[in-house]
Amino acid sequence: MSFPDNAAILKDPWCILFEGYDPEAEGYREALCALGNGYFVTRAAAPDATADDIHYPGCYRAGLYNRLVSHVNGEDVEDESIVNLPNWLPLTFRIDDGDWFSIDQVEILAYRQILYLRSGILQRDIQFCDRQGRQTTLREQRFASMAQPHLAGLRLELTAENWSGALAIRSAIDGRVNNNNIERYKHYNKQHLELLEVNVLKPEVLRLVMQTNQSRIEVSLAARTQVFVNENRVGSEWIPDQENTYIQEQTQISVTQGDVVAIEKVAALYTSRDPAIASCIEASHKAVQDAPGFTDLLGDHQHAWERLWMRCDIEFEPVDYLRVTRLHLFHILQTISPHTADLDVGVPSRGWHGEDYRGHIFWDEAFVLPFLIYRFPSIARSMLLYRHRRLNAARDLARQHGYRGAMFPWRSASSGGEETPRYQFSLFSENWMPDHTWLQHHISVIIAHTVWKYYTITDDIIFLCDQGAELLIEIARFWASLATYNEECDRYEIRGVMGPDEYHTAYPDANTPGIDNNTYTNVMVVWTLCRTQEVLDLLPNSRRIELFHALSLNQDEIDQWHTISQKMHVVTEDGRLSQYEGFDRLQPLDWQQFDEERVNWVLEEKGDDINRYHVAKQADVAMLFFLLSVPEIQALLEQLGYACDRTQMQRTIEYYFEHTVHESSLSHLIYAGAFAKLDCKRSWHLFTKVIHTDLAGDSSGEVKNGIHLGAMAGTLYILQHHYLGLEIHKGSIYLNPSFPEQLTHLRLSLQHHYNDLEIAKTDHHLHLTAADSNPSSITIVYQGEAMNLEPGVSRSFALEEI
Ligand code: BGC
Repeated sequence: MSFPDNAAILKDPWCILFEGYDPEAEGYREALCALGNGYFVTRAAAPDATADDIHYPGCYRAGLYNRLVSHVNGEDVEDESIVNLPNWLPLTFRIDDGDWFSIDQVEILAYRQILYLRSGILQRDIQFCDRQGRQTTLREQRFASMAQPHLAGLRLELTAENWSGALAIRSAIDGRVNNNNIERYKHYNKQHLELLEVNVLKPEVLRLVMQTNQSRIEVSLAARTQVFVNENRVGSEWIPDQENTYIQEQTQISVTQGDVVAIEKVAALYTSRDPAIASCIEASHKAVQDAPGFTDLLGDHQHAWERLWMRCDIEFEPVDYLRVTRLHLFHILQTISPHTADLDVGVPSRGWHGEDYRGHIFWDEAFVLPFLIYRFPSIARSMLLYRHRRLNAARDLARQHGYRGAMFPWRSASSGGEETPRYQFSLFSENWMPDHTWLQHHISVIIAHTVWKYYTITDDIIFLCDQGAELLIEIARFWASLATYNEECDRYEIRGVMGPDEYHTAYPDANTPGIDNNTYTNVMVVWTLCRTQEVLDLLPNSRRIELFHALSLNQDEIDQWHTISQKMHVVTEDGRLSQYEGFDRLQPLDWQQFDEERVNWVLEEKGDDINRYHVAKQADVAMLFFLLSVPEIQALLEQLGYACDRTQMQRTIEYYFEHTVHESSLSHLIYAGAFAKLDCKRSWHLFTKVIHTDLAGDSSGEVKNGIHLGAMAGTLYILQHHYLGLEIHKGSIYLNPSFPEQLTHLRLSLQHHYNDLEIAKTDHHLHLTAADSNPSSITIVYQGEAMNLEPGVSRSFALEEI
């Protein structure tokens, strides 16, 4: 049996439909249908489930971490993790003296799960028959309020199809949770929470207060459950029961065949780190007490989503890709929304949807923020402030390693120290391997690049004066102190680092980790040094003098940056840019023969070392072409005295593409961007792969541990930045489109300063429309030609065939 309107849902580009219950795919659906609002995210676990081989209920507050010491590989190591918070979902029922409903225990007659992207609602429709032959239809709906970020709602609606009897209802808050989502971390301690208090506040309101055991963050969860039969409120006799960190209550009602029973649960989550509260315990109680009913709360939530979509929806054909693009936007906004702007939070690589990488902050702002800067500059600014607040920690790191300036950590969490673990555990060999990925100092060029993007798009000179310039100066200073002068070739070099390719952590048989002159790093350092000098010129004189004084900066230091930016070493091989010095001399490897993607683990299991081989995990030098335009790269190389024409650039990207396993979801994405202006067909082919990374991903694969936020956001980056060719600089909007032929339609809008602009691509034209209400004209530079677009005026441009 199936539901009648599935065909219509399948066609709707605002819906994601999963048909049938599939225990194997449950973890993947839990992450992909997780609901959040930028403050917290709850995985889409069944409300009747606890963590087991099939289900993993998880609830995470943005940026709420805790540290634990574990004894692994013979040592005590400390790790900081995003914390899995108490589960607010538990809600189930029992007919007469039957079993408590569990999706895994009944005969399922029909099942579907629908994620409504426009309204942020997850719905599950189930028809089932229990052991006694009683047939019931169950509709479950839930949301994490985008209107009131501390609230979430869950509603079960049951129809008694062929039975009458007693219905017992059980609602709970379950604090018996730990961080158990990731198999690789099985040897680490997992218990982050301890009990503070449990209360029954009213017959229908429960509260559980716990605290993280190291960061001492209080977490208070309150929940109110109400029952209705045929829309009339019933069942106020709740019997509470508690066992340690688990609190439940139970009620019982009579049901007659054909009755519709609705059970509505509203939960409130507060923590002691939240702004504008006196106490999280009190705040959570007040929030559930004052919360309107489920339906009203849902209405406000839907309106809030409507407003978000008004600001950032994209229309796009082919339609199949539109649905996925919206799913990507949906998850970006669930992870980072206007509610995140008040929190001290960075951009997590796997969303707040699971525990992979412990919720750490890597370099994903590179992929996520550019889209947000155009639509939600205050959110982007808040993410940059996350970095600025950790500038002192980055200065400390630089000092500890003998450098000046700020050395931002590859993995960061609360305090801004380096969170890369000491060891990685291989699930293949069960061996512990030293983790040298912290050598990816290139993270700081991403911070510099995002600061610059944010400033050029928003013209926010106050941010530049107060935080942005300081970040850039300290990053420039770090690189200048790390670069060494090689007299023999009269060049500066950057030795002992790692590029984005995480397979190459050292030279074969070397005693110390690190590789030399990674091209991506070296060129981006030159870019950073140039932009920092430019920023100093942009600042008002008084602020520049202040910064010189506060940071003990002097002209000699700036001259030194200038010299390095003219003399940086860039390794080339056979007319191509090389990934790093010596990479092209490594041994060839027929990695395609391996069944597994994790080539480094496969080799390690055989006693070999990936560092010996000429194969990359992910895009490395191609990242240059993702971030910078071809003319920008050419100009940087020319300034260094190197020539690299378009053909050589294309050969560089093609060559490395062939020598890459693409183990990271970012790899195809970066290549799709890198190829956009050089080989559009290939770029589109890769784009279509990336767009399906999570939705069509292997359901038993990694998505169950968290979505790939960088790859999701990166698809929007490519549409906007590479295909449309959008840039904003000095108040003008630059457009240099090169659309793949399959991308027949695209429509998006932006706000720039006080003006609204709509951009639409039809078959062979690009149309720009300035809103009637704009207070001034917009300066557009279309393929090098500047023009003013007056309020209410549209212009169309014929697109060149590619
Ligand atoms: C990739 C990194 C990425 C990290 C977190 C790793 O597998 O190599 O580039 O930042 O995952 O997403």
